[in-house]
Amino acid sequence: MCLQQSRACLCGRRRAYLSFRDNVLTPEILRALYCPECSSQAEWNDACMVEDCGWILEYDMPAARFFLQQRGLNTEVGPDFLFDEGYLSWQGFSPLDHEVNSELHQRLSPLIQKSLQEYMEALKSEWLAYVATLKAAGWRKAQHI
Ligand SMILES: [Zn+2]
Repeated sequence: MCLQQSRACLCGRRRAYLSFRDNVLTPEILRALYCPECSSQAEWNDACMVEDCGWILEYDMPAARFFLQQRGLNTEVGPDFLFDEGYLSWQGFSPLDHEVNSELHQRLSPLIQKSLQEYMEALKSEWLAYVATLKAAGWRKAQHI
């Protein structure tokens, strides 16, 4: 099971849902999170930061390498690896998938009374349409689907 949690960005206006593959890293490894509105406050450093559609994640790389080493994993990695391999990344494809998914279930739930099959099909097609918009918008994790 992977630890999941949400984190507010630096300015506090946005919240991202995060996941931690195999629980190798801990939430503290994410030193700072910037949303598109507060990312201008980040002093860009590609040794410890990764960018995704205007969001910036800043990692504590020495601590991350320590945890990777403890699990016998390659430590010659950069922030891109932590993000793209899912060790400390969005839950799903973007920071807001969790909320979008909840909203979708809530909005379509009246359909359950009518037909469970119709509900399931509507959920699936709306979710796929949403994921297609993420891919088109350039979200990194949505590019591989
Ligand atoms: Zn922000």
